[in-house]
Amino acid sequence: MKYDIVIAGAGLFGAVAAHELAAAGKRVLVVERRKAAGGNIRCEDRDGIAVHLYGAHIFHTSIREVWDYVNSFVEVNPFINSPIANYKGELYNLPFNMNTFHQMWGVRTPKEAAEKIEEQRSIIKGEPKNLEEQAISLVGTDIYEKLIKGYTEKQWGRSCSSLPAFIIRRLPVRYTYNNNYFNDRYQGIPAGGYNALINKMLDGTDVELGVDFLKERERFASMAKHVVYTGAIDEYFDYEYGELEYRGLRFEHERMETANYQGVAVMNFTDRETPYTRCIEHKHFEPQNAELAEKNVTVVTREYPADWKRGDDAYYPVNDDKNQKLYQRYAERAKKSNVIFGGRLGEYKYYDMDKSVERALELSKCLK
Ligand code: UDP
Repeated sequence: MKYDIVIAGAGLFGAVAAHELAAAGKRVLVVERRKAAGGNIRCEDRDGIAVHLYGAHIFHTSIREVWDYVNSFVEVNPFINSPIANYKGELYNLPFNMNTFHQMWGVRTPKEAAEKIEEQRSIIKGEPKNLEEQAISLVGTDIYEKLIKGYTEKQWGRSCSSLPAFIIRRLPVRYTYNNNYFNDRYQGIPAGGYNALINKMLDGTDVELGVDFLKERERFASMAKHVVYTGAIDEYFDYEYGELEYRGLRFEHERMETANYQGVAVMNFTDRETPYTRCIEHKHFEPQNAELAEKNVTVVTREYPADWKRGDDAYYPVNDDKNQKLYQRYAERAKKSNVIFGGRLGEYKYYDMDKSVERALELSKCLK
């Protein structure tokens, strides 16, 4: 056999696994369906701006080992994500914090904010059963109506009362004037974008681009003892038990001849009517680059949520009870195969980048 391990997918999970296994002396082949490596963290240089082709990616983690690991490949520029929510032209700071509460109600102290929220959340009795109840019980009805409901329903294509509560718990709620979107200890963006990171991880490893592993699975299976698969687990098994649900996305990039279009890297459009959820202005991901800031060019990307159907890129797993049960069946099936499934699609899990790296490090250990 020519290789020890074939890895399907050159996204972050696949690249970490490839690097680790190659460093352990394994002969590794990476096979990628797209024409370029990097999965959804891939960037493209346009006018000197690193454009995040698949939406904003801000690396944040509290796992020291993962932070050090990423920093061992590239320099990570400091960046603190402080998005602005735009509700029909009214602007609010995110995540939900004293600035938001002041903008929403004019309150000035944590005590006043807590009283306001307490009054509004009293309609929820007992443990929150879904995203709507969870949101109201965290921040009250006004914030739910203006900053959560519309955004969430267009993002997920379903009502907040039919979504799992954990999704909204991703966002911090703070009684301080702190606009940092993440609670993690470390946060930043690789200098020059994510491609440098992926390229370094894959350096020296054989990579076949534009090749669909599933279409040639026999050939690849005969090439190596082990397979690591980072695509959708249900697709791998030919939808044997049925389809898992995913959420899709569509991105529209626009170049403009202006130095500064929206004054912030990420603006969320939280009303139901605006068809996109976010508009990102990429140059603001590099606040330390003064030359770029002054340059009379900018690139923005609008992110449109989309229904997912077979053949589309899958961006988010829909981790409700029904889909989790179905996933469990695939996971059981996977245990009986000689394939290791990993990453957001392989494990049907809403992983952030750091968790994906952590998991890839963990799974690679089993194969070393
Ligand atoms: N969310 C919201 N309003 C916002 C931002 C987020 O209601 O302005 C909700 C929405 O349900 C979203 C979830 O919080 O799906 C998680 O947001 P996050 O920014 O973590 O999503 P991601 O960046 O992974 O798309």
